[in-house]
Amino acid sequence: DEYYGISRWGGDFFGISESGEVTVKLSTPERKTEEVSLYEIAQKVVQGGLSFPVLLRFRDILRAKIHELNNAFLSAIKESGYRGTYRGVFPIKVNQQQQVIEDIVEIGRPFHYGLEAGSKAELFIALSHLRDKESLLVCNGYKDREFIDLALYGTKLGHKVVLVIERLSEIRTIIERSRALGILPFLGIRVKLSSTTPGKWSESSGDQSIFGLTSHQVVSAVKILKEEGMLDRLVLLHYHLGSQIPDIRHIRSAVKEAARYYAALYKEGATMGHLDIGGGLAVDYDGSQTNFHSSRNYTLKEYATDVVEEVMEILDPEGIPHPTLVSESGRFVVAYSSVLLFNVLDSSSLTVAPDRLSVPEECSPTLKELIDIYNSISVKNVQEAFHDIIYYRDLIRSQFIMGDIPLWERGLAELYFWNGIEKLVKVSKQLKYIPEEIEEAEASLAHIYYGNFSVFQSLPDAWAIDQLFPIVPIHRLNEQPEVPAIIADTTCDSDGKIDTFIDIYDTRPYLLLHPLKDEEYIIGIFLVGAYQETLGDLHNLFGDTHIVNVALDDDGEIVFVNEVEGDTVEDILSYVEYIPKAILHRLKRKVEQALKEKKIGLPEKKAIMEAFEEGMRGYTYFE
Ligand code: PLP
Repeated sequence: DEYYGISRWGGDFFGISESGEVTVKLSTPERKTEEVSLYEIAQKVVQGGLSFPVLLRFRDILRAKIHELNNAFLSAIKESGYRGTYRGVFPIKVNQQQQVIEDIVEIGRPFHYGLEAGSKAELFIALSHLRDKESLLVCNGYKDREFIDLALYGTKLGHKVVLVIERLSEIRTIIERSRALGILPFLGIRVKLSSTTPGKWSESSGDQSIFGLTSHQVVSAVKILKEEGMLDRLVLLHYHLGSQIPDIRHIRSAVKEAARYYAALYKEGATMGHLDIGGGLAVDYDGSQTNFHSSRNYTLKEYATDVVEEVMEILDPEGIPHPTLVSESGRFVVAYSSVLLFNVLDSSSLTVAPDRLSVPEECSPTLKELIDIYNSISVKNVQEAFHDIIYYRDLIRSQFIMGDIPLWERGLAELYFWNGIEKLVKVSKQLKYIPEEIEEAEASLAHIYYGNFSVFQSLPDAWAIDQLFPIVPIHRLNEQPEVPAIIADTTCDSDGKIDTFIDIYDTRPYLLLHPLKDEEYIIGIFLVGAYQETLGDLHNLFGDTHIVNVALDDDGEIVFVNEVEGDTVEDILSYVEYIPKAILHRLKRKVEQALKEKKIGLPEKKAIMEAFEEGMRGYTYFE
């Protein structure tokens, strides 16, 4: 655990069993909790006929997070004497999968937990799934006439649909549609705050952000609403600073600024009643509890308390009633509930075991020199040997290009070079100060573990914005991991790899893993429930992975509640507009031609066609 840090980032959910397997805490329908081995779950998944990669979903974790969030705000409200309540909404964009939304709506019902929609498709999901009329349905994003009509009809059906004005021009369309349909809207205004936050997700805030109204536009919006007699329909103020805000200071300053906007709108005569602080509540991916971009330097309790107190501090002196607090946390709610499991297909390394380094009877003086340097490496000559070994490796490369040395010599020289670097790294650990260049060289010694998954499909943020996720083998944790490795995926893209890993307070360029044995080696990527499933793409035509919802039954046995099979080759080909049947037909014609030309016989024709047909129905990953 010390190395993988599960107790730091695993929350109350993940741990390690005595037998060295990662565990997840699940509960029976009677709420008896048990620690269940992920390795056991993985074996059951395979026995049930599915192959890796598989995404595991845990409804129990989703429930715990929804309760945690709502209870944190309700407690902060109670403890501070705040005279308002909390109504969270889940932003559908963070995980749109039907099962997830259904679970969220059901679990959130006692809290009147609502949904946030940012597009027409998301609005359809929200309108059809929300049952509780007390819950809010917040509509963000740019809205055309159709979007506005849908939202207005939602209001007519009794839902609290709030149309949040993101652009000044939307107001006129909303007023026009409201009059045409005879339905009064609930309106919100999204403001661009001057408070910003640094980090990978910061572009949602600040003057240059593409969302929301500037202070001047807010004044114009109020003027229009007043003129049209609609200011009483303005019930909500919204802002969103960006996702994953690691520093509580930025959260506090944004709430403060927003509360001032709220007060100003209230004083202008708007009905108001809701202050929506958007998302941004961060997940501590590395468990460091710092303001590092993959962490957060605050607890949920602190977050909720600070929001409540900042609002009171601004509104109380003005005598303004406390609004219902709304937040749109997505990442915090769903990140923990999904784990991606994949198997390792193979590994490769630049070095060999030292006893496998052959000594040639005769070779060029350059190679001889390189071998001598390798043999001479000691604590006393680390830096000098490092420079020399690079010099001679480069010399051999140019001599090979000039045609002066044969391929086998170059091959052997590369082995001596990398083994030499490995020896230097090892020896330098005894020095008081390790030379920087040698420390840097260590990363290039990492082995490559080839994982059966696609970074682009399952971890798009790891590729697009270098987001960090905890990555841990789910078994063999009683064995010391000793192989420094990076992970390559099955796409043939040089970006299809993970070579930055979480470390406490920092990142590291490799992950220590176990040497491969005959049994399958299974690695889990944790905290992947937010954004990853929906941002994923079909690079190299690797499709959706299998999804298994895992729970416990009355007897504490593992059950798979809802299995969703991943894409087949056939599915994927039709997504990109091929007709699988037509492809098989083309292949059949080729096979028949080969038969005609006597390149194959009848039994081969049958075998080839069967392989094509079966392949079409198969999983897009290695089976
Ligand atoms: N609300 C809005 C308007 C967003 O754009 C987002 C995502 O960035 C969220 C809420 C969810 O944010 P988070 O996942 O950080 O809670």
